[in-house]
Amino acid sequence: MTKKGEPLQQGSLPRRVQRIIKISSGFNKPFFSIRPGHTASGALKKTPYTTDTTGQTMKDTIRKLAKEKNAIILAHNYVPAEIQDVAHLCGDSLELSIRAAETDADIIVFCGVRFMAETAAILSPEKTVLLPVEDAGCPMADMVTPEALKKRKAQLPGIPVVTYVNSTAAVKALSDICCTSANVIRVVESLDSEEILMTPDRNLALYAASHSSKKIHLWEGFCPFHNTLDRKTVSEAKKAHPDAFFIAHPECPPEVLAMADAVTSTSGMIRMAKESEHKKFIIGTETGLLHPLRQACPDKIFHPASPEMYCPDMKKITLEILKNTLEKESGRVTVPEDIRIPALKAVRKMMAIKG
Ligand code: SF4
Repeated sequence: MTKKGEPLQQGSLPRRVQRIIKISSGFNKPFFSIRPGHTASGALKKTPYTTDTTGQTMKDTIRKLAKEKNAIILAHNYVPAEIQDVAHLCGDSLELSIRAAETDADIIVFCGVRFMAETAAILSPEKTVLLPVEDAGCPMADMVTPEALKKRKAQLPGIPVVTYVNSTAAVKALSDICCTSANVIRVVESLDSEEILMTPDRNLALYAASHSSKKIHLWEGFCPFHNTLDRKTVSEAKKAHPDAFFIAHPECPPEVLAMADAVTSTSGMIRMAKESEHKKFIIGTETGLLHPLRQACPDKIFHPASPEMYCPDMKKITLEILKNTLEKESGRVTVPEDIRIPALKAVRKMMAIKG
């Protein structure tokens, strides 16, 4: 059973989020529209590595700089293909931060959005964490502010707060425990409370609620790009690819998840595609994931559920920007200790849940 939290008033949202909601409201376009940098199938076009003034490929220059500075380059599954190809590690945000913390690198360069670099800084306070595009943000993370969460907590005294890792460090610090799209059900079930407040993603909370008897108070946040996937678009994709297996991310709306053959996280999608007997897939998440899927399974075919599932903040980074970041060690992200310590507690509590 679910109960709605305080509805988000669009006028009270940060201006940046309002702008993105406005852009995403025009998303019900024909199924086969082509985004810049994508092929007709929605795949990211391969961008040849550019050559710099010394005649080296940009990839070689970046890797050389990283070696000189003892830096590790992390790339989220949604960033452009050429960035994923030059990175030392690719994956989802928490997995990358955990793996980077285990290395002896002095510098972490996080090719992704701000909350991801913050998570790396929470887990690796002794390392320098750099975010190449300083204004690369996540509209969903911006839909919950510490002030609004404090207010809601006061209305729900004693009810534990579960916060999706796609959130700011300050919001994590006010939470009892974090969750990912992969472990959300286990996290909810681990809590010794029959009522829970979940932030910021409403769809993820509804997904957890559909697998739990607990009462989940929703926060009205959402990913503008997963949330726009609708039944009509999925029906068209299924009609176009009748023998394809449809995998959806839990950030998609419940009516879309109900049409899916499987619901899982980005890492789960890669694992599932590798292990599955199916040869064709419709992928219900941000189109950047098509690149690692095609690399992991070159003999299989992947179609985007909608080419409109395109997060502009994830696509801001270029090889040139990455090179400049390493050269100048610019874009440093730090988390003050009074926020880092409680945020780390919420992340560690989640990491302690096995299974
Ligand atoms: S895809 Fe959605 S959840 Fe991920 S960074 Fe972009 S806006 Fe945030």
